[in-house]
Amino acid sequence: MTDRLYLFDTTLRDGAQTTGVDFSLEDKIQIANMLDGLGIDYVEGGYPGANPMDTDFFSKKRTKKARFTAFGMTKKIGRSVSNDPGIAGLLASQSDAICFVGKAWDYQVRVALEATLEDNLDSVRESIAAVVAAGRETMLDCEHFFDGYKANPNYALQVAKAAYEAGARWVVLCDTNGGTLPHEVEHIVGEVIKHIPGSHVGIHAHDDTGQAVANSFAAVRVGARQIQGTLNGLGERCGNANLATIIPTLKLKKEFAEKLSIGVSDEALKTLTQVSRALDELLNRSPNRHAPYVGASAFATKAGIHASAVMKDPHTYEHVEPESVGNRRKVLVSDQAGRSNILAELERLGIEVKKDDHRISRLLEEVKEREGLGYSYEGADASFFLLAQRILGEVPEFFRVQRFSVNVERRFSDGGDTETIAEAFVKVDVDGETLISAAEGNGPVNALDLALRKDLGKYQTYISGLELVDYKVRIFQGGSDAVTRVLVETADETGERWTTVGVSSNIIDASFQALSDSITYKLVRSGAKA
Ligand SMILES: [Zn+2]
Repeated sequence: MTDRLYLFDTTLRDGAQTTGVDFSLEDKIQIANMLDGLGIDYVEGGYPGANPMDTDFFSKKRTKKARFTAFGMTKKIGRSVSNDPGIAGLLASQSDAICFVGKAWDYQVRVALEATLEDNLDSVRESIAAVVAAGRETMLDCEHFFDGYKANPNYALQVAKAAYEAGARWVVLCDTNGGTLPHEVEHIVGEVIKHIPGSHVGIHAHDDTGQAVANSFAAVRVGARQIQGTLNGLGERCGNANLATIIPTLKLKKEFAEKLSIGVSDEALKTLTQVSRALDELLNRSPNRHAPYVGASAFATKAGIHASAVMKDPHTYEHVEPESVGNRRKVLVSDQAGRSNILAELERLGIEVKKDDHRISRLLEEVKEREGLGYSYEGADASFFLLAQRILGEVPEFFRVQRFSVNVERRFSDGGDTETIAEAFVKVDVDGETLISAAEGNGPVNALDLALRKDLGKYQTYISGLELVDYKVRIFQGGSDAVTRVLVETADETGERWTTVGVSSNIIDASFQALSDSITYKLVRSGAKA
């Protein structure tokens, strides 16, 4: 028999505090959908009544299976529950559950609330009771619980018990400042569970010591049965507990999997990598390559001897199967590479070749020579794919750029301000036809990209959904000259991403190589006919 552990996602509420993250209503709807599909039990959506977008968001239920949860303050002190507009807003929302936040640290009650300890307890009791009376599920996030417990254990416990006794389904212990360590969490949650059953206790951890995930598990080990976190660990400062790390650990590690069950199925787990990247895509952030389980490098191996061992027996170098979380094994191509790396990489890219094919040595030589010039294929899968295809198979010349020019001009506008504009011009042959395009951009590379993709004749339908999502430049000393390496990451309309590389002493020329590789890659992958 396994115990049910509940997952509560606060990406749309606490995660919205992340620097640089600003959800639109449309984003919120999409993210709620993704979380619902994953099998999260509670999706917290924001503060209805407190801001217009959230009120809109809560004007209908946005999840099918997950409990759609509204967040708000306990009633104001000195006001009755029925007279509190905040609580009225929460009750008016189309939510399945309401999560209150209340103070659990006596110091905060006195200083921040300027209230008596008893008044704060009343506010918790009455707010919870009002939601219970309205027939809806409710819970309390006990703010600063761990710091509060250290300062005054008796009062922190009183707050938690007040909520539970008033009918809260969950009492959630929050490490609001994120400074608590796993052994402290284990001890304090263990104490709380002597008073409130673990099946009603949750943990809400922040990552300020890099241990939000460890803290969540520490609480679960002593009996807590709800974990609050965010997708990709979004959240203010260092973020919240990362559900993209917690979920696979719960499902794939025996210690947890044998004792606990969660709402995420094995099938849904296989979509985790995609869900994690789709969120980054939506937020226009580059995915963290080194994220546990879902990062692009999570199952990547570099050195030659390791690579051949990985291919013979993956278990020797992998703690779980990459496919179980929808990720994939990756053997990096680098100048330390031997034949085995190249073979492994070709297999992964789906390029069929016999192990003793003499062209593999040629490809290896070519990779080494180009790496000597400054190319790097480790982060540029798509350029490696094209290089291999050119040597082992065939890559049609879909288009040939006769010439291009880029012009950058800084000038005075009519109003007398300075402005900088970039224009690019491209002359390209496609299928016996010469096409000329020009475009303006916010910079020279942007202008060149736009001009190049403006008109490729019969290939236009294949490339109209392309978007340049990341651009990285590194300048280093190669021999006597400075060499520029450009990496371009492109996404298409399906969300697929690939990276290409260009190297030159001229940054525009390096960018041009990477941009044209990117287009060629898309055409090859789409099966375009030359
Ligand atoms: Zn928080």
